[in-house]
Amino acid sequence: MTRIDLHCHSTASDGTLTPAELVSAAVEAGLDVMAITDHDTTGGWEEAAAARPAGLTLVRGAELSCRWHGVEPAIPLHLLAYLFDPAEPRLAADLARLRSDREQRAEKIVGRLRADGVDISWPEVSGYAAGGSIGRPHIAQALIRAGLVRTTDEAFASRWLGARYFVPKADLDVFEAVRAVREAGGVTVFAHPNATVRGRIVPDKLIVDLAREGLFGLEADHEDHTPEQRAHVRKLAGELGLVVTGSSDFHGTHKTVRLGAFTTELAAYGKIVAAATGVPVLG
Ligand code: AMP
Ligand code: FE
Ligand code: FE
Ligand code: ZN
Repeated sequence: MTRIDLHCHSTASDGTLTPAELVSAAVEAGLDVMAITDHDTTGGWEEAAAARPAGLTLVRGAELSCRWHGVEPAIPLHLLAYLFDPAEPRLAADLARLRSDREQRAEKIVGRLRADGVDISWPEVSGYAAGGSIGRPHIAQALIRAGLVRTTDEAFASRWLGARYFVPKADLDVFEAVRAVREAGGVTVFAHPNATVRGRIVPDKLIVDLAREGLFGLEADHEDHTPEQRAHVRKLAGELGLVVTGSSDFHGTHKTVRLGAFTTELAAYGKIVAAATGVPVLG
């Protein structure tokens, strides 16, 4: 059986394994195909490709921070993008803008924490991101170091990064994101679309509209979905002719989920690869 995990993070964003460590870990976890999908960056592609062990097929991708403006306040959501041309100017500029806003936003959050006497600093937090796409897990790491919380999960509670010190980040309009990825020859899959544990979710009607714009798939099997939510997403994908994926959303020690905890069927993976024209899979 081919084991395929299409959603994994490295130190190029908020994962804790370097891209090279991630591709090795994928083989150790018994995966045949793995996608590297860091938040708003392709920064891990080169290292992952160079370190790719024989026997592992590498899918180059990213997870784009998006927002749907159909309701007030707008709902944030994540779009997985696969096999797009990273040099396509519009998409590359979008990603660069998202990353630079992440920096400003993280610095703002650190400033607010410091104003309340929390003993962390911007150099410390930005050091944890080490030049990658910075996010709240890097701030969580500083809160753990300072002894204020024990786990990343605790740092996301409402008294910390979940609400009290929450600052929104700039996101791409989801329709523009679908179009930009398509224009770059890539394929989009809506990540954990029904994960109510993460906050508000979008109505099915939006997914119908996105499918019309070229959305290619829905991630059904994900740890943040209940069995009912997985079944619902699967059914909706069937009705709309979208592919169904399953993936771990591995983040190293920033989350408890293991590589390959959820996987994608070979037929769905084949359709994604066949539809993409931006860059080839490696291996
Ligand atoms: P950000 O992208 O800066 O808004 O931070 C959100 C990221 O933190 C998500 O991509 C998650 O992967 C990660 N994360 C880790 N633990 C949690 C948690 N308990 N709740 C929400 N996000 C989490
Ligand atoms: Fe993340
Ligand atoms: Fe996500
Ligand atoms: Zn993710």
